[in-house]
Amino acid sequence: MTAEENIIYNTLYSKEYMKKSGCWYGIKCPFCGDTKTPKSVHLFIRLGGDNNVAMTCYKLGCDVSRRMSVADALKLGVTDSSVLKMLADNKNIKNINRTSSRINNILLSEVFKPEIASYFKSRTLIDVDKAAIEKYSMVGCIDSFVDLNKTTIHKDIQKKLLYLKNKYPKGFIGFLNRDRTLMYIRNIDEESKDKHDKMSLSEDFIIHSPYEIRHNVDYKQKDFIIFHNEGCFDAINISKHISGGVPHYSIASLGFSHMFGVMRYYSAHYRDVTTVINRDGDINPTIVEKYLSRYKYRYQDVYWVYNTESKDIGDMRLPINPVKEKITLL
Ligand SMILES: [Zn+2]
Repeated sequence: MTAEENIIYNTLYSKEYMKKSGCWYGIKCPFCGDTKTPKSVHLFIRLGGDNNVAMTCYKLGCDVSRRMSVADALKLGVTDSSVLKMLADNKNIKNINRTSSRINNILLSEVFKPEIASYFKSRTLIDVDKAAIEKYSMVGCIDSFVDLNKTTIHKDIQKKLLYLKNKYPKGFIGFLNRDRTLMYIRNIDEESKDKHDKMSLSEDFIIHSPYEIRHNVDYKQKDFIIFHNEGCFDAINISKHISGGVPHYSIASLGFSHMFGVMRYYSAHYRDVTTVINRDGDINPTIVEKYLSRYKYRYQDVYWVYNTESKDIGDMRLPINPVKEKITLL
């Protein structure tokens, strides 16, 4: 955090309950009034160490989603003059978009390096062809991806993308989120400790959508299911091998810490659909059940699915025995 961000943090922290998620800090939203539940917060403020102080409220109907202005700071009780000066002066601040809806118009290249294709196939049993590249939004050759999008991706970001070749010399596979604003990166070198990465494809400051596979898009259909997963490979294998082909979205939150935010978003936008949570072996079910219970009016049926034979469902080389159990929300 910068000195100014630290002052914002201390001011808000001293006043009320605060929830941390990465560089975002959640508090009750004074702009919409928020909810009365003590530990339920909707306004998230970004203190990312670069004075790009943005804020966004996830309460339905509240449209606060912008960089923090002087007036916003005062409303939040932040009166420190150095902070107000920083907010007033900051010309470097990036724009903020709550939903990006394919602002970049990013295209997927059909070129796929053979070693990356075979890594993908080993984990999913899926052949890489044009349809698979589109369906799973994959990047299998960074040179051809950057070349194809050289007019839409900013030059600095192109450089960073190409630098990934040095960082992951054995190769990596990229997965693009739904809006194609963010690339999740998986190193194919299984020996490396550095396996995961992600990179924004947009210069603007964006709330990125999660990774999502859509199988049949109409969520109002009977039997529609939303699957929540941690990783992209889990999401793909659930969609391909476990879903049974029913209409579904299979979503990867990219890490357990993001899963609650992602579940909150989907439960708000897709009410009363069946939800299945793909649970890693190291997840404490009680924490998730407690969380879901707070929003139980949003859900129809909720299930766990987990693998009794290994940690998760992200690798078809490992033994897989998926078990589905209904969750009772109290
Ligand atoms: Zn609000």
